[in-house]
Amino acid sequence: MTRADRENAATSESIGNRSMDKIELRCPHCGSANIFKDAAAAWDAEAQEWTLVSVHDHETCEDCDRSGDYMAERRTLGAAD
Ligand SMILES: [Zn+2]
Repeated sequence: MTRADRENAATSESIGNRSMDKIELRCPHCGSANIFKDAAAAWDAEAQEWTLVSVHDHETCEDCDRSGDYMAERRTLGAAD
């Protein structure tokens, strides 16, 4: 895997991260990792719990309340700052 491939993998959006590299989400305004993502859940009567059915584009920082579509920065875990 080339360096460019790794960078693409780190910024591509997927619910499950299929690449070997783990990513983290960071607020570009305050640096917080407490990022919430809008999502939809459906009630599963068999399991008696909410099941995540989709995630939306909108992301909100818990700490500074900034929000927007794909607002958070994607960083490869362990990468130098
Ligand atoms: Zn923030």
